[in-house]
Amino acid sequence: MGKIIAVANQKGGVGKTTTAVNLTAALGAKGKKVLLVDVDPQGNSTSGLGINKRDLKGSTYELLLSMVPAQQVLLHTPFKNVDILPSNIALAGAEIELVEMENRAMRLKNALIKLKPAYDYILIDCPPSLGIITLNAFAACDTLLIPIQCEYYALEGLSQLMSTLRQVKRLYNPQIEIEGVLLTMYDSRLNLTLQVVEELKKYFPQKIYHTVIPRNVRLSEAPSFGQPVMYYDRTSKGCAAYEELAAEVLKKNKGS
Ligand code: ADP
Ligand code: MG
Repeated sequence: MGKIIAVANQKGGVGKTTTAVNLTAALGAKGKKVLLVDVDPQGNSTSGLGINKRDLKGSTYELLLSMVPAQQVLLHTPFKNVDILPSNIALAGAEIELVEMENRAMRLKNALIKLKPAYDYILIDCPPSLGIITLNAFAACDTLLIPIQCEYYALEGLSQLMSTLRQVKRLYNPQIEIEGVLLTMYDSRLNLTLQVVEELKKYFPQKIYHTVIPRNVRLSEAPSFGQPVMYYDRTSKGCAAYEELAAEVLKKNKGS
């Protein structure tokens, strides 16, 4: 039964999509069947896997709003063991349209139920907000993976994220837990980075991954070639980091 991990942080630009795409590819390469669920209207993980956003037959918008079967939206990718439920700008309307709908927080969960047995891992790439789409991701998932960029304002917003998590736990998903906290765009030469890490260790004892993701230009180039970094440049530091993260995730889940 697939474990559902939501990659979430309501801040934009912290490395959610980069992590979702590259962890998905790395787990797939290690022989796990992985589904990436793009629920960000920007569709960056969709295009990051080489799929043309303008040309979709169906997307997570239809999945959430009209409950078409997930199989109709699902796409296979050229990357080993990787499938995707793609997204595009159509999903931007969903924040408002969902408000009126019955069962509005549980729609993604219901949509994924049938797919769960076919995968080892299902990763959800969340939008940069704590709106109703993110709520759907939190209600649907088993755990949250929280990427954090080591910058001055890194801790800002975390208390809001944690209070949303507590609310979701109480109202929709009592089993939800934190999978792990990932330091992204890491630069150990900066004093600030070390300070942020110390703060985070207090905030999330035991939850911070040993693996850190360095700043690496290959990671930012790969999406424009529609490829996860391990297919774009196998020798890059970014590739090594996400492979190490995949190994750590598997070890934590006793899957390696
Ligand atoms: P989010 O999904 O949280 O908005 P992204 O994953 O899209 O964040 O990352 C924001 C920008 O930073 C993108 O242009 C991405 O290519 C770049 N980026 C992300 N992680 C790294 C990294 N480790 N090194 C260099 N650039 C990165
Ligand atoms: Mg993103």
